[in-house]
Parts: sequence; C-alpha cells; structure tokens
Amino acid sequence: MGRYQIDGAMAVEQSRDIPIAGHYDVIVAGGGTAGSGAAVAAGRMGAKTLLIERASYLGGTSTGGMMGVMWGPYDSYSGYCKEVVDDMLAMGAAQPGAIVNFDPATLKQIHLDKLQAVGAAPLFYSYVVDAMVEDGAVRGVVVENKSGRQAILARTVIDATADGDVAAFAGADFQKGRSDGAMRPVTVLFRLGNVDIDALLSYAQEHPDQFMADEHVNFVSPQERKMRLAGFFDLITAGREAGELDADCHYLRVESVDFETGIALINTVRVYGIDGTDAWQVTKGELAARRQMADLIRFMQAKVPGFQNAFLVDSSDMLGVRETRHVVGEYILTNDDIAEGRQFDDVIGLNCGHLPPNQEVHSPDGNEGGQSDRANRADPWSRISHEIPYGMMLAKNVDNLLLAGRHVSATHEADRIMRHIPPCIMVGQAAGTAAALCAELDVSPKRLDVRRLQACLLRSGVDLGRPIPGLEPNAAQ
Ligand SMILES: Cc1cc2nc3c(=O)[nH]c(=O)nc-3n(C[C@H](O)[C@H](O)[C@H](O)COP(=O)(O)OP(=O)(O)OC[C@H]3O[C@@H](n4cnc5c(N)ncnc54)[C@H](O)[C@@H]3O)c2cc1C
Repeated sequence: MGRYQIDGAMAVEQSRDIPIAGHYDVIVAGGGTAGSGAAVAAGRMGAKTLLIERASYLGGTSTGGMMGVMWGPYDSYSGYCKEVVDDMLAMGAAQPGAIVNFDPATLKQIHLDKLQAVGAAPLFYSYVVDAMVEDGAVRGVVVENKSGRQAILARTVIDATADGDVAAFAGADFQKGRSDGAMRPVTVLFRLGNVDIDALLSYAQEHPDQFMADEHVNFVSPQERKMRLAGFFDLITAGREAGELDADCHYLRVESVDFETGIALINTVRVYGIDGTDAWQVTKGELAARRQMADLIRFMQAKVPGFQNAFLVDSSDMLGVRETRHVVGEYILTNDDIAEGRQFDDVIGLNCGHLPPNQEVHSPDGNEGGQSDRANRADPWSRISHEIPYGMMLAKNVDNLLLAGRHVSATHEADRIMRHIPPCIMVGQAAGTAAALCAELDVSPKRLDVRRLQACLLRSGVDLGRPIPGLEPNAAQ
C-alpha cells in the first residue's frame, strides 16, 4: 500500500520519519528584504544561523520584485539599512534624496556578500512548509526541496516570509488585509530600454497638469539626472476608454529613469482581489499582471512620448504582493500611534517616509490614480516618522518566534508605512539581533530584556530617535 489513501475529497497521508538536517541557534525563514538583514545581524552577533529561501537569491521583493526605490528619505536611514545603501552609493548603484533610487541586482549581491562574510549559511531553493511546535513554542521548521522533506531545529526562529507562513503554520492568529479582508493590489514591474529621455522630459515639462502634484512622487530634475513621473492622466484615460488598457489602469507610473542608459522602470500594473497566500490565486494574478504588462507596452510604444522605440528589458521574477497576513502580536501598531508619534519603551527603530496623511496610496478598492483618488492626484504628501516597538515582532499566542517583514503586527492602515523597504530591513536587523541574544542567554523572545536588545542595536549604529534612559547615545549620531 502507498503512503496516501484517497478518502472522498481528501487524501490521507501516512505519518513518516523525516531526517533532522541540522541544529542552529537561529533560523531565518525567508531571505527577502527583512530576512537578509536578520540573518546578517544574527551572524554578526556570533549566532550559528541558517537562512532558508525558496528563491535563488537574497532581497525578496526589494530585488526579485524589481524595486528601484527605497521609500523614506536617506537622512532617516541608520544601521544595516544605511550600511547597504552606503555600499551601493559607493558603487554608483544608488542615488540619495527624499527617496533613494537603487539597483536591485547590486543589492542582491551586497546581501549575499555580507551573509557569507558573517558565516551565516543560506539554503536556497527550499520552501518552509511547516513549523515544529512544542508546548506553544516553535522548535524548528520543516523544509521541502530537491532533497525531499527535512526537519531543521533552532533555538529561535524568525519568520521573514512576508506572509507570516511560519506564524500561520504554528497556529498564530492573523488578519488578512483590511478589517474586511480586502488586500492591496499585486503588480509585475518591468523595465523598458531605449527610452527617449528628451522627449519624455519635454512632455513632462510642458504638461504639468497631467501629473501628480506631490513632488516626492513626481519630479523632473535634469540637473540631478533624476526623473520620476506619475500621471499621463489624459493619455491613459483615452487608452482605457478605447479598450487598449485594462479597466483598472488609471495612470502611468514611471518609477525611475536612468539618464545614462535610457532604461525606465514601470510600476503601473494593478491586479485586485488576489490573495498572495493562495498559490492558485497567485498564478491567476501573475497571468493577469503579465497581460496588463503586454497591453501597456504596446500602448506606450504607440501613444506615450519617449517610448516609441522602447523595448522590454526584463520584468520582475516574482509577483509583487503588497499585503497578505498581519500576524496578531503582543502589540498591534495602529495609525493613531503613527499620527500621534507615540513613544514606546521597547522602541527598536525609527521609520520615516512621505505619505498623504491618513490616505491609502494603493487602495484595495481600486481606482488608484483615478480622477477622485486625491492621494495619487492632488494632495501633498508629508514627512511622517514613528517609532517601531519590539512588541509588534512577537506573535501573541506563539513563543520562540520573531516576526520580521511586512506581516509584523500592524493594522492595514499602519502597514501603509511599515511595509516599505527601510522599515522591513530595520525590523529584520532587530529580529536577527534579538534572536541571537535569545540563543546566547537561553531565553525566549518574549522574556528577552529589551534594554539589552536596544543596547546592541545602538552599538550597531541603529538610530532609536531619542536618548534611551541609561543607555549610551547612538554611536552613529
Ligand atoms: C509592487 C510593489 C511595489 C513596491 N514599491 C515599493 C517602493 O517603491 N519602495 C519601498 O520602500 N517599498 C515598496 N514596496 C514594499 C516593499 O518592497 C515590501 O513590502 C518589502 O520589500 C517586503 O519585505 P519582506 O521582507 O516582508 O518580504 P520579501 O522581501 O518579499 O521577503 C520574503 C522572502 O521570503 C521568501 N519566502 C516566502 N515564503 C517562503 C517560504 N514558505 N519558505 C521559504 N521562503 C519563503 C520569499 O521568496 C522572499 O524572498 C513595494 C511592494 C510591492 C509588492
């Protein structure tokens, strides 16, 4: 008899022994934006660290998702985030400012070099498919890959999967998306080459009414060799009404333009109603996104000044998923916390970015960039800055687990700023540091003395935004 029995609508799998492939101080599940920072931080603390990643590279959405911009002003970065950006600046692979343009391929390599330099081990091409839980505490994970199904044990596990996969496997409570379950749209980003920069520049300068008002999202600065455009409102409306573009396409977002190479990064595709934790829906989203991308390229070549002779250079390896689970943590960060600038005794970092006050930029309801979307049309975006508490990294009903990435414990409304790349890297660094401390001191993350964590973060150049009583000021200040 085989290992499986078909029983009505279910297949019953017989229990089986699986090998234990290793014991670590720290396991980081997911080697993306947050996970890379977590593994490097844990390795630097001397912890025996394993990073498990389903793809073949580090950086996740920030690299494979083909990002080109870190949201948040360069002057607000500290710790590992500043370190990687400064490395890219030194290599000519980033441009600082109110937002930071960067080259995702360079970031992949920087994370990998740093991971190897600290002696942390990567395990690529491997899915974490289950959490091993004993008495409410995570003791390890189960992975599946070409080697089969294996268990890997750790003193502390960091869930950096962005979807809170480990937390969900372990039985943690979570909320998907907004309170009604709706989630932000998914996107495939792509790059077009051979863009006629002068033609694009002229159109932008001659038609300011066709572009978003806010100068952080839309700016033309030939002297600095920078341009970011969000608009082309009338052209896109005409294309949509003629059936040449998707019904959900209301504006064209050119995230960045490289003046030297004539390559533009396009972040315009929007597919709504996709649950990024459901493989069938992700596939549906991928197909719809790629259809939108093909329509857009045809339309841009035909109708948008500067793109007549443009060609597709490449597109994101992975579907860009903006939102799935928000794990319920010991503390749930809210929009009020952010608006009121609430201070937390357990602060582990300071997050900063320009956003329209109290408005969603990527509403799950659609109409992004549409006539009535004030956030992406008319309203000015202001600089928002807030403290990140350690409590939002601790799953409420599961122990021995740290959360790092966009699934940290926050409401949908607060997540609009916590989901950006800099705070994800920041939370990753804090999680890696905390996990290593927990392993060293033999305590669970919930019992860790946060002052010890804060002291380590300050020593690593993290800016906690204000003096912490009894601790030395930030070494970076
Ligand atoms: C389309 C789009 C545009 C965006 N634009 C910007 C922008 O301009 N600026 C900005 O600052 N932010 C932007 N963001 C937000 C930001 O990029 C992400 O929220 C952030 O990078 C998420 O980081 P993360 O570490 O949580 O997830 P990720 O970087 O996605 O990392 C998760 C990693 O875990 C891996 N993984 C997942 N599940 C498993 C599993 N079960 N087993 C093993 N590995 C697993 C994944 O492969 C991935 O590498 C954008 C997001 C999207 C989707």
